[in-house]
Amino acid sequence: MKAALLTGIKQFEIKQIPEIGIVNDTDVLIRIKTVGVCGSDIHYYTTGRIGSQIVEFPFIIGHEAAGIVEKIGNKVTCVKPGQRIAIDPAVSCGHCDQCLAGREHTCRKLLFLGCPGQLGGCLSEFIVLPEKCCYPITDSMTFEQAALSEPLAIGVYSVERSMPYIKDNIAILGAGPIGMSVFHVLRTKNTGDVYITDKIENRLQAAKKLNPKWMGNPDRLDIVKEISGIEPLLLDIVYECSGNPQAIAQGIHLLKPGGKLIITGIPEIDEITFPIHELRRKEITIINIRRQVHCTQKAIDLLASKKINMDSMATHRFTLEETQKAFDLVANYKDGVMKAMINFE
Ligand SMILES: [Zn+2]
Ligand SMILES: [Zn+2]
Repeated sequence: MKAALLTGIKQFEIKQIPEIGIVNDTDVLIRIKTVGVCGSDIHYYTTGRIGSQIVEFPFIIGHEAAGIVEKIGNKVTCVKPGQRIAIDPAVSCGHCDQCLAGREHTCRKLLFLGCPGQLGGCLSEFIVLPEKCCYPITDSMTFEQAALSEPLAIGVYSVERSMPYIKDNIAILGAGPIGMSVFHVLRTKNTGDVYITDKIENRLQAAKKLNPKWMGNPDRLDIVKEISGIEPLLLDIVYECSGNPQAIAQGIHLLKPGGKLIITGIPEIDEITFPIHELRRKEITIINIRRQVHCTQKAIDLLASKKINMDSMATHRFTLEETQKAFDLVANYKDGVMKAMINFE
């Protein structure tokens, strides 16, 4: 079977790798149809690591996927061969303290698709996952929509954990796929005004469709000054979705006393500093988001019911052979790319 192997920094090779098959009774062999290129994949592509998770080359990355069930193990009951599915890329053990507490996403033995030292990724014609990672989709849902349910689930979870009240005023820092997922989910709720920032103009233009109260580019404007001019009492919730360390400080400046800072973005560096006294005096709550848990089905339902339409997020399409091109495009934010999709024949 064919796969895109990451063989070095910014280097992919398309190669034949040994066929894989069912090992456990609960395994499902999946024929991959679509893979979305995620910001976290880009970290592995450009730097070979995220924090202490370091790629040993060659390695297959990719975790935002949808496909068709090819074969199932003897004990599989929730999917059958030929079924179209979305994939939850997190394989939890089901037995540790975290799993038993309903925190499968921080499972002590978590194996995450396309994560170094854990599991090979889905930029491969076939993958094997336990049935609990397989979510049947309706015939009307496209594979691209199914793959987009993965980043959307992170938006669903970020909003769930932040527990917004009716009329809460909110900022989203970063209008990439995760920031937009958060925005889409907020639009299904009865919150107040939404302010959104990004350094890329066409991302702001894309965000405009969701009708923000205000949007601005932090490279051109003092966004704290601008937003606090409109909202003198400041904001209830800020979602940091850019990974930019400066955005953390901006978020703290933008929050009112008792506000909540939700950190969903992944920084490229290992340590960041922030204004501790302002954080303390305002008694701001910081909530870190580690991917998501129990939100895959909710994301699929939001897309299937058309309460959320993220189709315009998939801006570019490539074949498996063109994986390198897709990653270069996303890594360099070229050609107005939001999300690149790799479609298998
Ligand atoms: Zn992702
Ligand atoms: Zn566990």
